[in-house]
Amino acid sequence: MDTAANRLIRYAQVFSESDYHAPADRIPSTACQFDMAHLLVEELHAMGVENAVCDDKCYVYAWLPATPGYEHLPAVGLIAHMDTTPDMTGKNVRPQVIRYTGGDIVLNREKGIVMEAAKFPELAKFVGQDLICTDGTTLLGADDKGGLAIIMQAVEELLAEGVPHGRICLGFTPDEEIGRGADHFDVAGFGADFAYTLDGGDITDYEYETFNAAKSAVTVNGFSIHPGTAKDKMKNAILMAQEFNALLPPLETPGHTEGYQGFFHLQEMHGKAEKATMDYIIRDHSMARFQERKAAMEAAAREMDRRYGPGTVVVDTQDQYYNMYEVLKDHMEIVELAEEAMKAAGIAVPTHSPIRGGTDGCVLTYKGLLCPNLPSAGHNAHGRFEYAPVESLNTGVATVRSLLSPALLERVILKKED
Ligand SMILES: [Zn+2]
Repeated sequence: MDTAANRLIRYAQVFSESDYHAPADRIPSTACQFDMAHLLVEELHAMGVENAVCDDKCYVYAWLPATPGYEHLPAVGLIAHMDTTPDMTGKNVRPQVIRYTGGDIVLNREKGIVMEAAKFPELAKFVGQDLICTDGTTLLGADDKGGLAIIMQAVEELLAEGVPHGRICLGFTPDEEIGRGADHFDVAGFGADFAYTLDGGDITDYEYETFNAAKSAVTVNGFSIHPGTAKDKMKNAILMAQEFNALLPPLETPGHTEGYQGFFHLQEMHGKAEKATMDYIIRDHSMARFQERKAAMEAAAREMDRRYGPGTVVVDTQDQYYNMYEVLKDHMEIVELAEEAMKAAGIAVPTHSPIRGGTDGCVLTYKGLLCPNLPSAGHNAHGRFEYAPVESLNTGVATVRSLLSPALLERVILKKED
């Protein structure tokens, strides 16, 4: 029998980085993601899951039919993503297992790369444990290969031990890190009654609240003329752009907010006197405040028009995703199941915190597949200091196995439906 740790080490060495700059019609964004997909399909076939397939868009699906006598249980979906972020290279990942005895961790003696305990205080929780680390030159890719490893290991154990279960649906997606992971997910074909992404962090923390998200492209139309003869004529778009931004609340930015506080984030700005453009993102957990924020952008534009004439500022706002909690709040037994499964796996006090971002689960939830997020055991994602404790991976496997246990599904989910 394999282990979740061995799987993570094996999967981490498969280069499967996605690419922000790939044209939208290139699916997946990078062909190398098929290497990860094909490996998972092969391993599922070897376990006896013969229906495992990878489609032409690099989505892997597989189904375990219910054990006879357990067809009444809901079909539970388990989802993880196969790509790693382009923010840090995922090429030539060389994982190493380090027994953590406290203090700093030397990742690479030759290059002098050290993970300092002072900068990562949560390391103290893992003294005495084995950590899967990088060699300091790449990311690890536990985001989200920790999720893949946990799901694959749980499935292998269930099958090898002949544990009875309801229908289980597996879905592994490409391009999550570039925000396209759920775009081509076949929710109907997947056929789960509800699902979980395993794409969180610390093994004790689960998530079911995300931001509501929109992006605003702001165009400021100025009027350029020779500065020497500009009096009462020039309207400098760059200055007006600054004025527009000043109409937004100055403390409601990412640098000043946390927890449930939303923000406006000016991401990019370009301009000359004649014309300036600004790209904002707008985020808020509360739908009401999210709508107010979008309205505030419009109100600022109207104020600029009042000052400088109609058409001075044009705001084009598009919604990106919504807080999954808006839908999940009427189905909290799915969240309760996750919490109960974590407790059964030995996590005394599972915690949950609002995600200051979104997940594939947001998109899937709004496509009709309710999908909270479970931990995938990794820490310090998207960088060279990424690591995953072996014990946490094993706890993740136990969590998934509990989640699928007929007794818990009957007690938490079916009881609620009666
Ligand atoms: Zn992820």
